[in-house]
Amino acid sequence: MTIPNQKHANLYRSLVLNSGDAMYLFNLDGKLVEVNKQACANLGYTREELLALSLYDVDAEHKTKENLLKFFSIPDREKHCKLATSHKRKDGSTFPVEVSISLLNENGDKLILGISRDISEHVEAKQNLFSYIDTLEKIHQITLISENIEKMISDVLNVVQEVFNTDRTFFISSDKTKNSFQFPPLEIVKTGASYISIFDENEIAKNYRQELLEKRKYPGNDTFTSAYFKSEKNKSYIDELHIKSEMITAITITNNTNYLMGVHQCTKIREWTQLEKKLFIEISRRLGDTINRLHYYHNLKQSEKKYKTLFENAPLSYHSLNSDGNIVDVNNTWLKFLGYKKKDVIGKNYGDFLHPDWKHVFDTNFPKFKACGYVNDVHFKIRHQKGHYKYISLQGCTGCHPDGTFKKTYCVFQDITSRKKAEDELKESEERYRLLMEQSPFTVEVYDLNGLQISVNKAYEELWQFPKKITLFKFNILKSPQVRSSGMLNYIKRAYAGETLDIPDYQFKSEIEAGSVYKSQSRWLRTRVYPIKNEFEKVTHIVLVHRDITDQKEAQKALRKSESQFKTFVQRVPIPLSLVNITSGKIKYLNDRFFNTFGYTLEDISHLDDWWQLAYPDPKYREWVMDNWEKAVDYGIKHETDIIPDIYNITCKDGSRKQILISGIVLGDDFLANFIDLTAQKSIENELIAAKEKAEESEKLKTAFLANMSHEIRTPMNGILGFADLLSTPKLSDEKREKYIKIISQSGERMLATINAIIEISKIETNQIVKCISQVNVTELLKNQLLFFVPEADKKEIKLRVKSILPVQESLIFTDHTMLTSILTNLINNAIKYTNYGSITFGCTKKNDLLEFSVKDTGIGIPQNVQKSIFERFTRVDHENTKAIEGSGLGLSITKAYVELLGGKIWMESKEGIGSQFFFTIPIKN
Ligand code: ADP
Repeated sequence: MTIPNQKHANLYRSLVLNSGDAMYLFNLDGKLVEVNKQACANLGYTREELLALSLYDVDAEHKTKENLLKFFSIPDREKHCKLATSHKRKDGSTFPVEVSISLLNENGDKLILGISRDISEHVEAKQNLFSYIDTLEKIHQITLISENIEKMISDVLNVVQEVFNTDRTFFISSDKTKNSFQFPPLEIVKTGASYISIFDENEIAKNYRQELLEKRKYPGNDTFTSAYFKSEKNKSYIDELHIKSEMITAITITNNTNYLMGVHQCTKIREWTQLEKKLFIEISRRLGDTINRLHYYHNLKQSEKKYKTLFENAPLSYHSLNSDGNIVDVNNTWLKFLGYKKKDVIGKNYGDFLHPDWKHVFDTNFPKFKACGYVNDVHFKIRHQKGHYKYISLQGCTGCHPDGTFKKTYCVFQDITSRKKAEDELKESEERYRLLMEQSPFTVEVYDLNGLQISVNKAYEELWQFPKKITLFKFNILKSPQVRSSGMLNYIKRAYAGETLDIPDYQFKSEIEAGSVYKSQSRWLRTRVYPIKNEFEKVTHIVLVHRDITDQKEAQKALRKSESQFKTFVQRVPIPLSLVNITSGKIKYLNDRFFNTFGYTLEDISHLDDWWQLAYPDPKYREWVMDNWEKAVDYGIKHETDIIPDIYNITCKDGSRKQILISGIVLGDDFLANFIDLTAQKSIENELIAAKEKAEESEKLKTAFLANMSHEIRTPMNGILGFADLLSTPKLSDEKREKYIKIISQSGERMLATINAIIEISKIETNQIVKCISQVNVTELLKNQLLFFVPEADKKEIKLRVKSILPVQESLIFTDHTMLTSILTNLINNAIKYTNYGSITFGCTKKNDLLEFSVKDTGIGIPQNVQKSIFERFTRVDHENTKAIEGSGLGLSITKAYVELLGGKIWMESKEGIGSQFFFTIPIKN
């Protein structure tokens, strides 16, 4: 540079000396030769003081002359340059400067001009920026490694405290949302300070926190709130909490929980630089992000834990196999299900756990599984630790390495042992039913919903005499004209609607295509049709089960024919027959002969009860008959034999009575009774018996007569003949003749009496006695008897009397006078005959509609052994006392016959040596 003229030189000097930049002019030795005002101000020296110094006295970095000269060697190459160094003030402090250097050549003297600028502020800014980056780096490190949210927040707060050099740093939850992610309050206070905590429970702290949260709500305050605190309102807590300046930022967490981070300057008011504000926001943003991340991570951890538990205890057994089929993982359920310990299975080949039959299935299929990537519902039989096997259904997929190669399998399985068992059982039972159907003697046909025949059994082929293929999948039951015309279609349709039905017997002709080698058959069928339903109760098929009843039908036809023949036979058989239901007593049938015999129709006796009432009107007899009949029927049922025949007296509809032999047989629930009319036969029989008895009696009579009469007749006859002979004796005195004649007369009388008795007996025996009923006055008759017998009794000095005379009105009865007289005569006569002393009393009393007569004596009596037969003919007591007494032994038998003829009874009581009493009754009305 060339120096211009003096004028210009002065101008330059003044410009330089007054320039805002510090200027130094020095020689190559470093000796300062000129400085301006700014240079003096910057360094704190006066001009004079400075000019006494050299450059290395003021430059803090190039202290030595060598350094300086070295430094200035540069201008040799470049005449102008800029460099940064630091200058030293008079007080010893240094400050950074940027120096612009130029080499001056003044009159051959080389001088250096240095123009320096104080760059302290720049440097500070630069330093701050470094600190900003450094801080963020620290925060980054903290947030990067943190797993614990609380610790991370606390670490961040510490950095903030340090970086911003504040008195208080805090972290506060802005609300108390439930279920939100909450942290305990955090607050860091400068070491040594003892301010009240903003989390204190006193009013001021509370108010302050309230104020913070309120502020947080104002729009625009969401992200950042910085305040220079001076408001009246807040004065109280500014003082109490020692808050001079604050900087607050909001942190929003994704789950809507908000936090505030703040710093307080407590001792002096502080203004926050833009850089500080930015840093503060950035820290809070990063803090928020990290909380979110950790929060998420935490939740993830939680859910991972949950899923782990779920996985271990899931109702599905899980295992994972590596490429070789070896087990790499199993869950608890797997182990529990198969009874193994984890250590027993990990690393083992899966195939080793399978049933030998299934191992090869696994070996063949595992490579396929690996290749295709999934399996579904693959069944295995796997061994339990105790040795038994379980059926499982396996599902799984494969996992791959990032390069796409196979990594491992992920498989779950379910226990299907019971399902398998049920399936097997089902299969078995299905097989059973199929066999049952196939072997069934009944014809079975199955039709689908369209009416198509889809299945038939063997019996079907046998029924129609053709193979099933002839109609299978061809015959349509809904389209068959025969089914329609026979009326079956309606039943089929109802079965499709869900009903089970029995179709009335019908005749069906097999439908075979024209030209078939098989012949169409016609069969009588009895069919049941029913639907098959699925689990939703929807009909899926119908089944027809037939029974071939052709033979039965033919038999029935034959039976009907023979039945009608039989009916005619039964109807016309000449024996009365009736068919009665045993249980109900209903009379079901009576044949013609029954009607002819008894006159009763089925209308008269529709029930057995009617028969009992009408046929046996006498209640007592009916009771006996019913009892007898019931016993006979019971016996018949019990012994499966005919009903034992018995004879019953039956009253016919016309009132006549018939003797009938009734018998029968039990036919299931009925009995068939047959009636044999024995009336005629019985009467003949009775007559025959009577005749026989009579003949026997006559024979007996004859014998007795001969035996007894010989004596009875011979005795008087001997008397008559003997004394008649004596009469012819000459010189017979009159007295003797008289005596002989008397004896002859008495013998004649005795013989006459005997002959009379014999004649009377004969009459009785031959039923020749005719009753002659008239009104008889019994009292009178008794009195006459008394009068008649008194002389004879007197002869023997026996008292004869009548007792209990009836009142007049009761004395009159209707009876045979002669017979009654004869009876009394006979008894009184005997009494006198067999009584030697004492008395004889006779009389009559009324007993209901009878009169009871009695004759009592005090005679010799009748021995006990004879009493029974005393009324029989020719009975006489062989007695010492009676030997002399004449008698034929016919009197009492005649008397008995008379009494009975008059409708009465006779009996006696006697004691030997004491006396006898004879009684007889006769009805008042005869
Ligand atoms: P008879 O003509 O012999 O008397 P009866 O038939 O009258 O025949 O009597 C039969 C027998 O009964 C008699 O022979 C007699 O022995 C006995 N007898 C009948 N009545 C009496 C009586 N009142 N006391 C004792 N004996 C009697």
